[in-house]
This record gives sequence, structure tokens and C-alpha cells, in this order.
Amino acid sequence: MASHQLYVAPPEALLKPLSVPSRLLLGPGPSNLAPRAQAASGLPLIGHMHKEMFQVMDEIKQGIQYAFQTRNPLTLAVSGSGHCALETALLNLLEPGDSFLVGANGIWGLRAADIGERIGAHVHPMIKEPGGHYTLQEVEEGLTQHKPVLLFLTHGESSTGVLQPLDGYGELCHRYQCLLLVDAVASLGGSPIYMDQQGIDVLYSGSQKVLNSPPGTSLLSFSSRAKHKVYMRRTKPFSFSMDVMLLANLWGCDNKPRMYHHTTPVVGLYSLRESLALMAEQGLESSWRRHHEATAYLHSRLQGLGLQLFVRDPATRLPTITTVAVPAGYDWRDIVSYVMDHFGIEISGGLGPSMGKVLRIGLLGCNASRENVDHVAKALKEALQRCPRNKL
Ligand SMILES: *Cc1c(COP(=O)(O)O)cnc(C)c1O
Repeated sequence: MASHQLYVAPPEALLKPLSVPSRLLLGPGPSNLAPRAQAASGLPLIGHMHKEMFQVMDEIKQGIQYAFQTRNPLTLAVSGSGHCALETALLNLLEPGDSFLVGANGIWGLRAADIGERIGAHVHPMIKEPGGHYTLQEVEEGLTQHKPVLLFLTHGESSTGVLQPLDGYGELCHRYQCLLLVDAVASLGGSPIYMDQQGIDVLYSGSQKVLNSPPGTSLLSFSSRAKHKVYMRRTKPFSFSMDVMLLANLWGCDNKPRMYHHTTPVVGLYSLRESLALMAEQGLESSWRRHHEATAYLHSRLQGLGLQLFVRDPATRLPTITTVAVPAGYDWRDIVSYVMDHFGIEISGGLGPSMGKVLRIGLLGCNASRENVDHVAKALKEALQRCPRNKL
């Protein structure tokens, strides 16, 4: 029967049981799973095209519409992490040669610019030092100068800890025939966002931050303006898996019979459905308030340890992920490792432009509690006592 001898043996490592530690995930994501999201992942699999699954998908759509505060029919979950939602937005909205204006005040704008370049757009990054945000005036200057078809802004800049204000930006963009694309991966559920009322054309978020679901699905919605831009394309989007019109059909957004496009992550969608249900039960306002209170308490505990918050203006501090300046004389890696090795708590260093400058502590969804703040404050206090310090 076998025409060849096996020359790769079964790996030893796979013959041992899977072993995973239990950790408190207080970095910028993923966060710990909500028990209900975790339980959902143990339910039996059904087919991705079964009518019961379409029901789950419809409920997810309604959950996203609530979380985003939008009535857009073109609202769905993408089979992939936050980057996948960003790529879906850009691959559909941009054509080669389009002018693309990017708020680049941290890593996420740089990523958006990178993807825009791959598509062949003319990318205009408005580079800003980590810690800053964009005023309406700065955006208007960019719109006047570059006449973009699309502006990218990050609502919750998780690499720097900045909350970008959003009131008035959509209206401003529309005055210049530009669409507004917003990344709310790190902020959705932790800080108010009103997609329709703020004139946001495309909004996306992820499952593994405030929603406390497993990584691997993300939320996405297109306004009718954004949909129109996709309809007017001269070329097909370069990605089949991320073609938003095909996804819209699969997600029942176009009133046509649903056709097979790809196999959705059925189990991940169960969890996402439960996370959105939790958000609906709890209410957005109460979730925003809980993050605000837990993070205010974290700030006071950090300042009590002599640490300095990285974002100067309290009004633009992100209520989900806090950045503190790396304390003088310490190596940030020692602090992060100490907290992990001695307390089983994940916190993180900087990312991209904030690398080496900050420590990041996330209080996301069910992790946003005073109790967790007390845990991490105790761990940090001990780390500051025990980690080596250069006397400069
Ligand atoms: C985490 C994060 C992302 C990326 O999400 P992935 O799920 O890792 O692809 C994008 N934007 C922001 C603001 C984030 O915090």
C-alpha cells in the first residue's frame, strides 16, 4: 500500500499533552477570555452554511451595529485578526494612484501606510511623535494639500496610549470628498464611539481586546458612502478573500441568497456572539464607565509608585491601555520579565515608535477591575525594588 517509507517520525513533543500556563493578560491584547466566550468555544461544530449559523451571524451583525452605533447594512465580522479588517478596508477602498492621507502617530498609522503603498496608492503619512493626536486644523491642512480619497485615524492608539478625538472629523472629511476610516481595535467598548453620528465611513475593531473573545475574528462596517466608492472602482479588489462585496453576500447584507465564499471560523464566531451579547446586556455606557473608573484608579496607583504617565494631556489618555514612561535607569525588559516571572502577569513594552519609551498596561473588558489594578501595582512595586538600576 505504502510506496515510500516514512522519513519524518512522529514528533516527540506532540506525544506529550498540551500544556499552557494560566496568566493574567494585562498587556495591550489579547485579554483574558470572558467565561461565557470560553464556554461557547466548547459547543459542537455546525456547518458554516447551516441556517443556524446564519442566525448566529445575523446576531453578530446586530451586536456590531450596537457596539459601533451604526445602522449600516454592510456590517460583518472578518475571518482574521484586526490587521485583516484593516486590509479589507484598504484593499476595497483604495485603487492604485489614489491619494491616501494617514494619521501616523504610532504603529497603526505606519501599518496602514505600508498596506496603502502595497496597493499602489499615493500615501501621505502625517508623522507625529508618539503621544500626540491630530487636531481638526491639522487634518484640514492635510486634506487641502493632498486631496485624499481616504483618511486613516486610530481612535485608540494602543502603542502610545493616545485617545484620538473623533467629533467633527467625519464632517470635515466629507466637505473635502474624502472618506474617514477609523481603527477602534483597542478602544471599542472602552471609550465612546458613534459611527453614524460621527460620520465615520469605515470602522473596524477586534475580538481579543475589550470583547474578551479569542483572537481571529474582527468587526467591520461600511457606510453607504464607502460602499459607493467600492461600487465605483475601475478595478476589482486585488484580494478575493477580502472582497467586501463577496463578504457582504456571505453575511446576508445584500438581500441575495448567500453563496459559499470561504469557511468562516465557526467556533470563533460562537465566542464573538457571546461577547457581543455580554456587551449588549451590560450596556455600552456602563462598559465605558467601568473602563474609565478602573483606568483612573490605575493611574493613581502608578503615580503613587512615582511613575509618570506618558500621555501628558489627561483628555487624550486612552481608557483601555495606559502607557507609562520607562522609569529612569531601568531596562523596560527587566520590569516586564519580572512581572511575568514572579506574578504571572503580562504587561508589555512599547511597539514601533514607542519602543523603549513606555510600558503598556491594558485593562480590557472583564480585566478592567480594581482587583487587577491592585495585582499589577503590587507586581510593579516589587519589580521597581528588585530590578537592576543604573545610577546615572
Ligand atoms: C491590537 C491592535 C491592532 C491589531 O490587531 P491584530 O488583531 O493583532 O491584528 C490594530 N489596531 C490597534 C489599535 C490595536 O490595538
